[in-house]
Amino acid sequence: MDKSVFKELESLLPDGAVLYDEPMSAHTSFRIGGPADVFVTAKEPEAIKAVLAFGRKADIPVTVIGNGSNLLVSDKGVEGIVLSIKGAGTELPAPIYADDEKAVFEVSAGMSLSAFSKACAKAGYTGTETLAGIPGSVGGGIAMNAGAYGGEIKDVLKSARVLDKDLNEKVLTNAELELGYRRSRVLSEGLIVLSAEFELKRGNAEESLAKISELNKKRKDKQPLELPSGGSTFKRPEGYFAGKLIEDAGLRGFRFGNAAVSEKHCGFVVNLGGATCAEVLTLMDEVKKKVFENSGVGLEPELRMIGRK
Ligand SMILES: Cc1cc2nc3c(=O)[nH]c(=O)nc-3n(C[C@H](O)[C@H](O)[C@H](O)COP(=O)(O)OP(=O)(O)OC[C@H]3O[C@@H](n4cnc5c(N)ncnc54)[C@H](O)[C@@H]3O)c2cc1C
Repeated sequence: MDKSVFKELESLLPDGAVLYDEPMSAHTSFRIGGPADVFVTAKEPEAIKAVLAFGRKADIPVTVIGNGSNLLVSDKGVEGIVLSIKGAGTELPAPIYADDEKAVFEVSAGMSLSAFSKACAKAGYTGTETLAGIPGSVGGGIAMNAGAYGGEIKDVLKSARVLDKDLNEKVLTNAELELGYRRSRVLSEGLIVLSAEFELKRGNAEESLAKISELNKKRKDKQPLELPSGGSTFKRPEGYFAGKLIEDAGLRGFRFGNAAVSEKHCGFVVNLGGATCAEVLTLMDEVKKKVFENSGVGLEPELRMIGRK
């Protein structure tokens, strides 16, 4: 790869921000993925726009990711630039509106969902507690309409500031974002989330923090958090639970190479150490086939796949 093309990109960002041949396994919760030709992290809208504009001008593809907690990245790596929007601190900004009952906060796409939820709880605002254990960013959470324990980001999101494919900036309301079960216009149209407004009710800090601890404990008891994974491998088929279907097909602990159906929770494929993307894909195909044979239900991946074919 001719690195001289990226000199201009380097000049737009802080020193050392542009990494070459960066292993994606270092940036995904699954610890899987070959090298990105170029990897950059940005959190400020201006820096995000500069990277995207550079890619466009130089005709180099830019793949936007957040915290990498829902990704399966090809062993052959990712062509062009991977832009990771994350690292936007842990502080809740001052509200842009507040009255006796509620407040509206504008939060950067790169803030982690867990930091956001905890900061809201501490400040005495309720509504984000169920998001605290999801290891993604606010932007990734909106793209996926992340949710757990009966809550989803859609419940508290007012609007999102996004860039479209032509890098036009606009604000889309909750309804315009068309958030559904693990889907959104952000995913279907390849929009890029820069920031989002959340409307939260005033609550009780102690109660919210206690709820977060309780839900995080539940998660730790049920989910294989001690091993790398990308979270739920498959979407929940209507009327079923993917984990139960996989268990009923006799696949608890089913292994291919170093990828395995978790012994603890069959809805998770885990990396036992050094698993490859190819191993995970083979395992997923086999799981899909066996579940279909056993139950007649077709599973669809929840993981987002990126990188070279
Ligand atoms: C142990 C574990 C537990 C999990 N539990 C849950 C759970 O309970 N509920 C749940 O819903 N998910 C869960 N997940 C999955 C994951 O955390 C969520 O899907 C999360 O929302 C992904 O956010 P991210 O920032 O990591 O996005 P990434 O994984 O980096 O990206 C996911 C998708 O979002 C897009 N994206 C990311 N940031 C942006 C942005 N700023 N603008 C536009 N698009 C963007 C990417 O292009 C990609 O298509 C879990 C994952 C793990 C590893």
